[in-house]
Amino acid sequence: MRTKLVAGNWKMHGSLAANLGLLHAVRDGAGGAAEVALCVPYPYLAQAQAALNGSKVAWGAQDVSEHAQGAWTGEVSAAMLADFACRYVLVGHSERRSFFGDTDAVVAAKFVAARKAGLVPILCVGESLAEREAGITGEVVTRQIDAVLGGCEITDFAKAIVAYEPVWAIGTGRTASPEQAQEVHALIRSRFAREDAAIAGGLRILYGGSVKAGNAAELFGQPDIDGGLIGGASLVAADFLAICAAAA
Ligand code: PEP
Repeated sequence: MRTKLVAGNWKMHGSLAANLGLLHAVRDGAGGAAEVALCVPYPYLAQAQAALNGSKVAWGAQDVSEHAQGAWTGEVSAAMLADFACRYVLVGHSERRSFFGDTDAVVAAKFVAARKAGLVPILCVGESLAEREAGITGEVVTRQIDAVLGGCEITDFAKAIVAYEPVWAIGTGRTASPEQAQEVHALIRSRFAREDAAIAGGLRILYGGSVKAGNAAELFGQPDIDGGLIGGASLVAADFLAICAAAA
């Protein structure tokens, strides 16, 4: 009942010249039942729009300002992303949280700004290795979600996505086992079900953290895993397309 989504996160990679082949290969190779999206660096949004417009591949950004407009040098507003026909925007990626000071409150404000502009935020949550080892994964993820729920309506999650990304699995080659991931995905869905069972039932919860062609099918086969957020493997068309095929 939930259509799977595979979203690539290019992070700070690419060039106008190199992107073209990747965009065209993903556009031409993406088939099947799963939805596909690419979250590209801001300067390449126009290029992504031109290459992907009219195809089944959507595009989006990796961050957004919580502010609507004004003297916020270096920031990019949600309305600006909408100008480039972005469908998605990542909010609260762990790299933003740990390296750029995005607190739970900032992430909540970014989520609200994205929704106000009609974008679909992909809210990233996840625990560090120390937090997992301390046995507080559930508390951490619930705190991150509650901060956002406190600033918006539950109905906003009818047009939002959650990505569970254990920080210890991002870019490390270490993946959560399907059982570990499923356990947290189920917990996330049950948190939303306490607010609204129908919205929780329709909410797509992606797994992210070293997803590769070789482990994607097993992860995506879990009952509460609705696709993936893919970093490194989204930079190689064949790898990314193999992951998309595993979700279809
Ligand atoms: C990410 O950046 O969201 C991510 C999951 O990266 P990787 O797939 O490289 O672990």
